[in-house]
Amino acid sequence: MKRTLKQVADMLEINSPDTAFHDVVIEGASINTRTIKKGNLFIPFKGEKVDGHQYVDQAFEKGAAATLWQDGAGTPPAGVPVLVVKDPELALQKLARIYRQEASFKVVAITGSNGKTTTKDMIAGILSHSFKVQKTEGNFNNQLGLPLTLLDVKEDTEVSVLEMGMSGFRQIAFLTELAQPEIAVITNIGESHLQDLGSREGIAKAKFEITEGLSEEGILFYYGDEPLLTGLVEKAPGFQSSSYGYGESNDFSPKRIEMSEDGSRIYLNEETDEWIDVPVLGKHNVLNALAAIKVALHLGMDTTSITQGFSQMKLTGMRMEKVDGAKGEIIINDAYNASPTSMRAAIAFAEEVRGQGRKILLLGDMLELGTEEEVFHREIGKELSPDKIDYVLTFGDRGQWIGEEASKRFPKGRVRTFGQNKKELISILQKLTVKGDLLLVKGSRGMLLEEVVEALK
Ligand code: ATP
Ligand code: MG
Repeated sequence: MKRTLKQVADMLEINSPDTAFHDVVIEGASINTRTIKKGNLFIPFKGEKVDGHQYVDQAFEKGAAATLWQDGAGTPPAGVPVLVVKDPELALQKLARIYRQEASFKVVAITGSNGKTTTKDMIAGILSHSFKVQKTEGNFNNQLGLPLTLLDVKEDTEVSVLEMGMSGFRQIAFLTELAQPEIAVITNIGESHLQDLGSREGIAKAKFEITEGLSEEGILFYYGDEPLLTGLVEKAPGFQSSSYGYGESNDFSPKRIEMSEDGSRIYLNEETDEWIDVPVLGKHNVLNALAAIKVALHLGMDTTSITQGFSQMKLTGMRMEKVDGAKGEIIINDAYNASPTSMRAAIAFAEEVRGQGRKILLLGDMLELGTEEEVFHREIGKELSPDKIDYVLTFGDRGQWIGEEASKRFPKGRVRTFGQNKKELISILQKLTVKGDLLLVKGSRGMLLEEVVEALK
């Protein structure tokens, strides 16, 4: 967004600033002086511990063009461009909403329990081949990150690809109403936030709120192998929709898939008779790729451009990231987060991928699963097969449940549980792994399993 201070005041429907500052040009906004960019509008928040108003001077030193100031937060600074508002958070959201309505770029919005960031990166990566694209940085997917991302959209941007996260009902509804997407994507329904939403039905309903921001011309692409989503689509009027997935009943399902340690190849259909190379690991990433391909085809791209787009894309780290171990072992770092769905997906990859070496799993706690957490962990342990996996190592008090179940069927010595002792875990792994082994590292964010990956690099 590039606007003068006077224009910004008009958008916010507040008193104009000092006329001397009317023509000050503002580009984008920031709530953090550490990452603020030249020309940004600084937006201070009064937090529980820190009051952002204390950082206003610093914001100007670092190049802010102007600042908001909450009415009642002391005396606003003199001699600099300031807009006084009642509530800086509401002002940020209002500004983003109006900019979005005025600007002409298209919005692709992505939600789902797992795969949002990956799908966002894939869509942005492919579309960049044919369009001027802007995307959510990292995980900026909430009621602050999303409007900040929208305000960061340059005036000549053609497509903005936005991630929408949530931890309760009506949050996605709020974000989608703000972003008004032309295209919405729901990647899957898992178990994360089960604690807050009560049931998988609840989670599906909360994700489905993304369609509330779609106009009649808008379209939803959704993971059609999930019955909860197909059920909701059947009852929902007012927008177009199209499903993708492995199941043949989907509007879009690949005819063949080949997977290797370097990625996947997807054969769409006889009609195009082309393979699309997707340089990411795992079956679940094929699904994310299908979503991305759908969006790209919908926006008029052809398969050749899509393949080229895939080869140029950059993914955010720690999601099925292939890392070379010091001994020549292949480490799959999937330590960004874990839920039963995503853990199963990662394990399925380790089981199915072809390779000469042994297959070793390092599985950590899955956090925030609520009262059923023990059952969820034990189920994973029960599903592990000694025919497909050579070693199972678990880390954390909950991970132990996985280990307990696995050890009932694995040969002696092939399952080891480590409570909280990461040092011992690392030293055992360093002795255990040899060249060619495949080591999958997977656990919730709080388990910091990337420390193990670092140690083995
Ligand atoms: P967050 O809610 O933390 O923002 P996210 O939805 O953005 O997560 P990603 O960061 O893309 O998800 O991926 C997190 C993990 O989820 C991956 O490492 C992978 O194990 C798993 N995952 C990714 N895509 C899928 C999918 N389509 N189905 C199931 N699991 C998936
Ligand atoms: Mg994410």
